[in-house]
Amino acid sequence: MDNKSIVATMIYGRPFPEVGTCVCHGKPVTEADFKDEVSKKEYLLSRMCQKSQDEFFDSNNDGDDI
Ligand SMILES: [Zn+2]
Repeated sequence: MDNKSIVATMIYGRPFPEVGTCVCHGKPVTEADFKDEVSKKEYLLSRMCQKSQDEFFDSNNDGDDI
């Protein structure tokens, strides 16, 4: 298992998937699921679908408790 699969298994309970599947839900994703090029590139790096990217980056932006 490579490092990405180890991390994916720790966080999501499944190995890092091939392109075409999201790591967060294990469901099929297509280019049409992403709202812009940035999201597509993020998917290629992280395998997170648009929904999870929105939640991930929204929760980061809400962090006012520094
Ligand atoms: Zn997902």
